[in-house]
This record gives sequence, C-alpha cells and structure tokens, in this order.
Amino acid sequence: MPKMEERLPHLVEQLDGWIEKSKSLCQHGKVASYIPELAKGNQAALGIHLIDGYGNEAMAGDASTVFTLQSISKVFSLLLALMDHGEQLVFDKVGMEPTGDSFNSMLKLELVQPGIPFNPLINAGAIAISSLITGASQQHKLDRVLDFFRLISGNEQLNYNEAVYQSELQTADLNRSMAYFLKDKGVIEQSVDDVLDVYFHHCSIDATCKDLARMGLLLAYNGYDPIRGKQLVPKRYVQIAKSFMVTCGMYNASGQFAIQAGIPAKSGVSGGILTLIPGAVGIGVIGPALNSKGNSIAGVDLLEKLSQHYDLSIF
Ligand code: GLN
Repeated sequence: MPKMEERLPHLVEQLDGWIEKSKSLCQHGKVASYIPELAKGNQAALGIHLIDGYGNEAMAGDASTVFTLQSISKVFSLLLALMDHGEQLVFDKVGMEPTGDSFNSMLKLELVQPGIPFNPLINAGAIAISSLITGASQQHKLDRVLDFFRLISGNEQLNYNEAVYQSELQTADLNRSMAYFLKDKGVIEQSVDDVLDVYFHHCSIDATCKDLARMGLLLAYNGYDPIRGKQLVPKRYVQIAKSFMVTCGMYNASGQFAIQAGIPAKSGVSGGILTLIPGAVGIGVIGPALNSKGNSIAGVDLLEKLSQHYDLSIF
C-alpha cells in the first residue's frame, strides 16, 4: 500500500499553504442556521486531517474543531442497515439514483413512482434507512448506532451531541413531514417519532476531522481497517456506499464535484466533508461556512485544488 508521502509528496510541508489559499472563501459562505444550534459554527474556520494506511497523519488549520456529522452519518447508517438486512431489503426502501434536487426536497417523492426515496443520502432516503436499524428497544438501536460509529472511527469517545439533537428535534417540521409521507406509503413501518429519533441522533454525533479521516480510510480500503488489521464492513457494501458518495454525496453539486475533484465524498450541513483516496488515504475537512448548495465553500475549494494538484481524480 502506498504511503502518504508517495501519493502526496511534500503535502505535509505545504498543507498550511493550501489552507491559506482557500480560507478567504469562508467569508463568502453562510453557516447553517435552520438547525439553530449549528449557527454556533465558526464561519472563518477551515481545517483538514489526512491519515494513510500506516497511521501516518497530516493536519492543518482548524482540524481540531468539533462538529456534528450531520449528513456524513448517512453513509454509515446505510452500511449498518446493509449489514443488518442485506441489499435486497434495503433497496426495497430506497432507490439508487441521484435526484438533482436539494437534500431536503420532497418533490420527487410524490412525482415519481413508486414513492420510495431516490437514494439513501437525501434526507427522505436516510430517514427510511434509519427505520431499518435493528435493536430490541429504541435505546438498543441508539446504542448500536453509536457503537458502530465508535468502531469505524476507532474512537471510543465519540458521542451524541445532546444540544444539537434537541435543536434539530425542535425544528424538524420538514423532515417530520417526509417521515409521515413515507409511513403512509409503507416505506416506514414503525412510529415516525422513533425513526426520526434514530435519524437525528446519528446526525448529531460529535466528531473531528481526524474521526472523518479514520472513517474515510476504512472506505478507502473497502471496509478493511489497515491500522487494526481487520475487515470491519463487507467490501461489497463499502462499494455501494462509495458509489452513492460519487453520485449523490455532495447533494445536487455531486456532478460538479466529480468533475472538479473526482473523489468519493460526503458533506454535511455542519460544514464537514469526508473523502478519500482509494487504497491510500482517508481525509476529513471542516469549514462551517456553506455555499448555496449546502457544502463547505472553502472545503470544496480546498479539495478541488488538492485533487487537481496531486492528480487524485479516480476518473
Ligand atoms: N440533520 C440534517 C437534516 O436532516 C442533515 C442534513 C445535511 O447535513 N445536509 O436536515
């Protein structure tokens, strides 16, 4: 397996410079406020952390910022649902296609039949996936979710951010309406409140760029954790997740990101981006100031610049 310095020569010395080149864009973005607690994010922050399969790390800028996973968590709730139920049942509940609409759009739910969400990375699809997480009780489901994130990040300290969870719970009319729609269509079978409770909880897990980089590394190695020497997730499921990251991971800017950066990535409204270099490096980025599509404005710029400079596109 390639070491970071082979894949990204001189990166460690130049990483601060790359942050500086993109950081001025933060002032042109907006920190998300539709979940009021997220508005506390630092508009000016930009950080990055990279880890290779030998455990070599590089970090720069505000990489130690703590933020909630938000939509980044959808990749991993999908993996957990696939491990719980297999492909067939999961794809009875969600489709495999990008929407071209924003992450919280309901437009195509009714417009295009059958009325199942287009993919597991839009809110409606992730809510349907949350209903598939198994557990003997609601608490058991929440424990299983947290245990899974701790396992794949190698960080036993990961936890739910109660303030962000409560903030989202109290301002969730749009997500709630989607969940009721899905229940009416039989996509969701349990109580809407219980399903949303799982969804809001996995969105509200606190993490740093290092945690994203570790999770990205696991995806880069197709479910094998090269640091602990263990296959944690079946390769096939990670391939499914990475395909969704390429086609839907950056919301309705996924096509543009595929052209400009060309690496599987998943963003969240807290400003995080998880990405990877296949077979080599996991990468976590934070930049809470968002562009009009809801992606970190400086984070996207940073990754596009790095990808173009180091020729990282998988295409
Ligand atoms: N928890 C957020 C929501 O449901 C996640 C959205 C996101 O990160 N794009 O709205």
